[in-house]
Amino acid sequence: MELTRIDRLKNFLQDKNQLITIVVHANPDGDAIGSALGLYAWMTEQGFSRVYVVAPNPYASFLHWMPGNDQVIVAEEEKDKGLRLISTARLLICLDFNGMGRTAGLEEHMRASEAAKIMIDHHPDPENDFDLMISDTKVSSTAELLYECLAGLSDQEAISLTVAQCLYAGIVTDTGSFSYGCNNPRTYEIVARLIEKGVDGAKIQRLIYSTYSEDRMRLLGFCLSEKLKVIPEANTAYISLSESELLRFNHKEGDTEGIVNYGLSIENIKLAALFTEKEDHVKISLRSTGDLDANMLARNHFNGGGHKNAAGGKSFASLEDTLADFESLVKNERF
Ligand code: 5GP
Ligand code: MN
Repeated sequence: MELTRIDRLKNFLQDKNQLITIVVHANPDGDAIGSALGLYAWMTEQGFSRVYVVAPNPYASFLHWMPGNDQVIVAEEEKDKGLRLISTARLLICLDFNGMGRTAGLEEHMRASEAAKIMIDHHPDPENDFDLMISDTKVSSTAELLYECLAGLSDQEAISLTVAQCLYAGIVTDTGSFSYGCNNPRTYEIVARLIEKGVDGAKIQRLIYSTYSEDRMRLLGFCLSEKLKVIPEANTAYISLSESELLRFNHKEGDTEGIVNYGLSIENIKLAALFTEKEDHVKISLRSTGDLDANMLARNHFNGGGHKNAAGGKSFASLEDTLADFESLVKNERF
């Protein structure tokens, strides 16, 4: 008889003293960090003695409140340590991504590592880079799927308040505070279990969404009043930010997070985009409603991917040329 995914996961977790490295995707979001720190806390509480969390690069300060945040090794800042933990691990647990290409500078080391590789993720079209794939595209978030895994591995009693806070943060951020990707009773059943553990939902909401710096708030105002471009005939709205504009607002990691969503709040807008100029590329964030497939747009034209209604990618053309390409694609409905 075929072993269930939980049984297979259990088999990989027999040895509590093996070196286990939890890895998240580049530019980790609340779901990635919440899942990683939730799993880290659960494993530590279960007696696993050598567990580490590695993020490819830094992430937004509004995620730094999470318990265990000071344990995260940011590979861009502690390169030798990050790479060593990937190369020498017996087990790599990959959270919130489904292909090694999402780990930026860690990709080659991830592929070369002899560790067993486990993926727990909810993005479509997983790649065959893993020894065990726990993949479910119907769940709201990796944190929700991880809850199912932890409840299956132990029992609900073993999920502590610390674990619950991290998983709750993952669900809240990936659903835009329960406004999309969560039209399934199971998500709310799991959230109810987390609240029973003592999670203070209002407090977590404030920690994530009401901790703007003044610069970040003014950057948002600038985007909406000066930079929003609406293309009504293509039901599209987008915002672009050059490096100098970001500098003007003393841009910090995470300051542009969420800006892309505002375009979708305009009547009849079905596709919203944010273009952020970086040193050697333009970062692209896409959001859509209904059947409009942002994932295909990102995959087919912008070296990226994601979910149907939330995706991202990169362009190596100039910001100006990237915007011209984008406008032409959406005006001609070439997704
Ligand atoms: P965001 O716009 O918040 O950066 O990303 C939105 C979604 O798109 C997330 O689910 C994220 O995993 C995915 N995504 C963002 N950038 C990329 C990328 O470069 N490649 C792929 N495959 N997915 C991306
Ligand atoms: Mn996610």
